[in-house]
Amino acid sequence: MMPGPGCWSVSVAAVFILAVAVSQVRGGLYSPDEPLVSLAGATRSLLLGSSSSWLAEFYASWCGHCAAFRPTWSALARDVQDWRPAVYLAVLDCAEESNSNTCNEFGVTGYPTLQFFKAFAGSPSEGVRVPASSVQEIRQHIIDRLEEQKESPPPACPPLEPISAPELEQFFANNNEAYLAVIFEDAKMYMGREVALDMVQYEGVSVRRVVKDQTDLVEKFNVSSFPAGFLISKNGSTSRINLGEETRSAYAKFLRSLPGVQRGKHALIGWSETSLVATESPKRQADSAKVYMADLESALHYSLRVEVARFATLDGERLKALSNFINVLRKYFPARPYLRTLLNSANSWLRARAKTKVSYKDFEDVLNNKNQAQKAVLSSDVRYVGCQGSKPQFRGFPCSLWTLFHVLTVQASEVATLGRIRPAPREVLLAMRGYVQHFFGCRECAQHFERMAQESMRNVRSLDEAIVWLWERHNRVNKRLAGAQSEDPAFPKVQWPTAALCPLCQSKADMSWNLPSVLDFLKAHFGKKNLADEYLEDEEVLLEKQKTAHNATQKRDKRDVTDEEKKSEIIQNRDDTENTLDDPREDDDEEKSDAYDKKPEAHPHQRPSIIKMKHVSHLQVEEEILDLDSYGPNMFPSRSLQDSSLHKGNHALHPKTLVEPRDAEFDEAAVRDRLLKRGVDANYLIGVVVERGEVNWKGRWVKMLEVGFSRLDISLCVVLYFLSSMCLLAMYLYMSLRTRCLRQRCSYLQV
Ligand code: FAD
Repeated sequence: MMPGPGCWSVSVAAVFILAVAVSQVRGGLYSPDEPLVSLAGATRSLLLGSSSSWLAEFYASWCGHCAAFRPTWSALARDVQDWRPAVYLAVLDCAEESNSNTCNEFGVTGYPTLQFFKAFAGSPSEGVRVPASSVQEIRQHIIDRLEEQKESPPPACPPLEPISAPELEQFFANNNEAYLAVIFEDAKMYMGREVALDMVQYEGVSVRRVVKDQTDLVEKFNVSSFPAGFLISKNGSTSRINLGEETRSAYAKFLRSLPGVQRGKHALIGWSETSLVATESPKRQADSAKVYMADLESALHYSLRVEVARFATLDGERLKALSNFINVLRKYFPARPYLRTLLNSANSWLRARAKTKVSYKDFEDVLNNKNQAQKAVLSSDVRYVGCQGSKPQFRGFPCSLWTLFHVLTVQASEVATLGRIRPAPREVLLAMRGYVQHFFGCRECAQHFERMAQESMRNVRSLDEAIVWLWERHNRVNKRLAGAQSEDPAFPKVQWPTAALCPLCQSKADMSWNLPSVLDFLKAHFGKKNLADEYLEDEEVLLEKQKTAHNATQKRDKRDVTDEEKKSEIIQNRDDTENTLDDPREDDDEEKSDAYDKKPEAHPHQRPSIIKMKHVSHLQVEEEILDLDSYGPNMFPSRSLQDSSLHKGNHALHPKTLVEPRDAEFDEAAVRDRLLKRGVDANYLIGVVVERGEVNWKGRWVKMLEVGFSRLDISLCVVLYFLSSMCLLAMYLYMSLRTRCLRQRCSYLQV
């Protein structure tokens, strides 16, 4: 094989032996016997700085469209397996949590995502998106991308540009090959380049293309129809390659059969043997008539820690979608107590940052209860029960997400019947729509769902209609997916509920649905009483795990603090001490009021004030009231009782009259703007108003008066005031004594 200009020979490339320890992920769609490389645990070292080009598929094993794309990707891998080591095809399952940071780093926001990395790529951002289309189209994309690498092509890559007449003249003088195959073709054709790449691993022959408008060579070889192939031997003979059909495979077969042409020795990167030590989760017994809390919590964990984590920063519509999602969760999700606290914290935190830009890292701190100020926890892994598939790649997350939203639509209606709040009919559906649109990794699923939502979601007029709308749309999806690649054979897609689950729901005669029975069934099935807590990890255990992780992070962070950081910490601490010396209790109170609801940073000109407002959160009170409703004594009896007494107490302290209507939108930005217009720094005031639902007017005016003064200022004022009063008093005493003296002296003289 002849090295092309700028290309090294394949034999040189062959010395690049990479010992790659890769592991097959549990739910992976691909197997080690395919000509693919698993990137698990080695993505950076494989894709970056490599002497090969790479086309990587980032997928999620639970994503139906990834399952549908699997045969195409496998066929492509087989089709171009002989192009290695010029170009490799690789896979990474982003559904596997151990890979999710890597997927985020490589900017993967939907599945499947194909990215091409040129040889010697330096950073993840150099990945070029390739559409997940047909085998032929992707193959042609690979060639286009390889051709773009003129300056540093993969050493093993043959020259893909057309050969010129002088190059052809000098070919055997410059190359140690027995043959040169020249393929004449239309400029738009890819066959010549495909055959050249098909011969990457073979020695003794080179393949070059000539395009139709290279008239000098076309005339010299007397070519009248395209494509046409010629074989030129080192001994000077030239012959027309006569094949039954002018196809890529026919050419490759012919060239590989030439005497002296043989496959070279290449150490190719493969799917390591370690991949076979896959571990599957234990089988969990599930009853199809129940809804498992473990599935719902898994959906929360995965959506918030994996799906949302794909976006390093959150703002605009995406942030709003997250905020709405969290809001419906904290309102209607029948969460266990510590999870409920966490959802409330996350909600307040997000609301305080509406219309800003937040980093996922900061939001993750809230999810991890980083400051440990309260007992708040979200499960740290997935544990599917009702949604466990017969194989790891089936069911799981999408199943749990559907279930979660069915539960939320039903819970919204349950909460409404208790009469405490009146949820908007489409509140849960809109939150789901926002989540799916902005975060659901299966992008094609999201597009389908969005189409359904656009069609008819606006027609939903009541909470019951919302329940039925979601059920009906889910059944449409079931119908579309019946028999698809993503279907778990053990859980066929059916029109649900089946007669076994709900005998009255569907008429046996004409299979029509009896909607009132369906609604009753859905309310019972996704109702609180039907939530099973088997396989749930105890919240105290989760909390313990959280503490351990927290301590480990703290230790690591301490080690990582550089001298520079230490210096700035000292300065910061000095300032803080100065500010807190006045009244240390005030900060304690503030921290208790909401562990995460840090106020936006103070304006640089502002100095801390001696007068600190109290955060009295009526919103919190309402949330606590909801608490009572949402976990009934049958689920968590002791907690439910504990909390009810607590809430009653709180409620008495905060009369309902002070509470703004819960569903009225609180426009924090507008308030901020208004205050700014009045010349008042809204940041300074925002602590009073961010607690949506309550505006502490008294606190606000007190707060306004203190603008511009620090505690130190005010302390000094008090001291000066005191000293000047003392001076005045002293002067007064002195003067009155002196006057008395003078009077006495006068009367003495008169006497
Ligand atoms: P799922 O369909 O996930 O159902 C989960 C559980 O809900 C079932 O076990 C059952 O108990 C219950 N259930 C079933 N039907 C209903 C119903 N009608 N009403 C109430 N409860 C029901 N995959 C694709 O390949 N293409 C897509 O376009 C696509 N779109 C999706 C859109 C959304 C919004 C979501 C969340 C998922 C989507 N999926 C799509 C995934 C797909 O719908 C399934 O979730 C996945 O294949 C797993 O199926 P499953 O067998 O676990 O049951």
